[in-house]
Amino acid sequence: MKITSVVGARPQFIKAAIVSPQLVAAGIDDRILHTGQHYDAKMSDAFFDELGIPEPVWSLHVGSGSHGAQTGAMLAKIEETLLADRPDAVLVYGDTNSTTAGALAATKLQIPVVHVEAGLRSFNRAMPEEINRILTDHISDLLLAPTQTAMQHLNAEGLGRDETSHVTLVGDVMYDLALRASENLETADFLATIGVNSGEFVLATVHRAENTDDPVRCAAIIEGLARVARDVPVVLPAHPRTRSLLEADPNSAKLTLIEPVGYLDMVRLEQTCALVATDSGGVQKEAFFHGAPCVTLRDETEWVELVELGWNTVVPPVDATVIHEAIQSRIGTTGEPASPYGHGDAGKRIADAVVARYQ
Ligand code: UDP
Repeated sequence: MKITSVVGARPQFIKAAIVSPQLVAAGIDDRILHTGQHYDAKMSDAFFDELGIPEPVWSLHVGSGSHGAQTGAMLAKIEETLLADRPDAVLVYGDTNSTTAGALAATKLQIPVVHVEAGLRSFNRAMPEEINRILTDHISDLLLAPTQTAMQHLNAEGLGRDETSHVTLVGDVMYDLALRASENLETADFLATIGVNSGEFVLATVHRAENTDDPVRCAAIIEGLARVARDVPVVLPAHPRTRSLLEADPNSAKLTLIEPVGYLDMVRLEQTCALVATDSGGVQKEAFFHGAPCVTLRDETEWVELVELGWNTVVPPVDATVIHEAIQSRIGTTGEPASPYGHGDAGKRIADAVVARYQ
């Protein structure tokens, strides 16, 4: 069986690091197609090297652009590739424009689509990611859900109820990778390069368009974090798209802005920080995997389990004082122990589900 796995953005490379080897181990000829949505070496090549992800068979170099232009360019190029190679299925991850383009190109050619991380919902259609998720789930053949909550969302939308779609709970591949990566990881040397001590810094990431493209939210986040930094350093690896936006605000000088780091260095930071403040989906979960409390700088989260378990507090980022106080009051706290993301075998379950459905 031959599969084309479409990736394009950092969280997708990270998920492919777990799923691709499992597909290969199951005897599947898995061929990676990289759309080029993230093309900066620190956002792309570094992950292929560090995590041993197989080289892409196709690199489409689509690059950045408006949503329509970017998705359209991907759609045309992915279609060409699929027409030439005719895989038995196309596998897509998550919720980026690469996900939607891969799913749409395949389904129009009547090639079945496998969606990894199906069923996530924020119920906020202003988020481009929410549109990508809904579209992709509704045209996918095999929907692989990371959580019980995601299963409920798919069910509520009528997916998996007839022969047009098949839904399976597999767990979250990011947990598989977190377990693998965190074993015996030495952290001291890396923290020294940044100039912080274990347990004595806040780790922040900000990249969602709803925050970076809104001047009020962006200013509130930077000011809130700058106030936190009076007491404890705030380390912020900045996404290339957001670095210049952050630096335009003088308060950003109070933060420890660093270049995006590799996955293992990110795990080092997550394992040793006092708290994570983020608008990233993946980083919210990684905070939990590594035992750090999290403040989510958004109006809502898809990962509601962590709020219910007390690990995560959602703070709409509109007021610097509220952000500062939320972070201060959560440092040193934890939530309930639980395993909402499976047991570290999601990659194997995905490969098994693909084999069961298509072989
Ligand atoms: N990440 C990383 N280096 C960084 C920032 C994030 O390796 O400098 C990793 C992080 O550990 C997580 C993933 O990138 O595995 C999350 O990606 P991102 O926040 O870009 O996307 P989202 O999860 O919000 O879709």
